[in-house]
Amino acid sequence: MTQLQGSAPERDSGSEPQRVFFALWPDELVAAALHACARRIHAQTGGRLMRRDSLHLTLAFLGDQPPERVEALRELAATLRGEAFELRLVRAGAWQRGRIVWGGPEATPPPLAALADGLAAALRGEGFAVEARPFAAHVTLVRNGHQPPPREIDLPVSWQVGDFALMRSHLGAEGARYECIGRWPLSGADQDCSGR
Ligand code: ATP
Ligand code: MG
Repeated sequence: MTQLQGSAPERDSGSEPQRVFFALWPDELVAAALHACARRIHAQTGGRLMRRDSLHLTLAFLGDQPPERVEALRELAATLRGEAFELRLVRAGAWQRGRIVWGGPEATPPPLAALADGLAAALRGEGFAVEARPFAAHVTLVRNGHQPPPREIDLPVSWQVGDFALMRSHLGAEGARYECIGRWPLSGADQDCSGR
């Protein structure tokens, strides 16, 4: 009944912790190019191909946070300044014996390093625990590959990065589903960088 459906509790509100992370999220065209690239690599490695709508580059992983801390993350993100940049994904590789098969740039573009470092510093300043390991720019394309990927991406993907996002992760049996809960522009970006 419509009435019953209408009175169902809202899944995303309330006081439950939320699993969150900052990321670069591609628009539809870049996601399609990344996915084509992921499919070709997957043909070589096997394993679990990432879904097209889940491809991203993680800037900082926060894990479970209570709603008020998620609000603090939004406020922090709004104070960050960064420049738009081009990310060219030309390299492929694998970590942890194929658990993560990734695509990445030849070298981290300086504006991306500045964004990731600035974000990590701001997060630490607000008392968030962030990874101590240096930032390694990568997009996970396949999980649990059985064979090594090629070292190079045959058709490099050019990604004009014009903003960054705060994402919420809903874990599930067939991989995580992600929800965008905040988005902030980088300066010099095209006005139309919404894409999704
Ligand atoms: P699943 O866990 O179902 O395989 P997932 O790893 O994509 O899916 P999350 O675990 O929510 O989903 O992770 C969200 C993003 O943060 C992913 O890019 C993931 O690689 C990254 N991430 C997860 N845990 C950590 C961590 N401890 N340190 C750094 N990055 C992490
Ligand atoms: Mg995970």
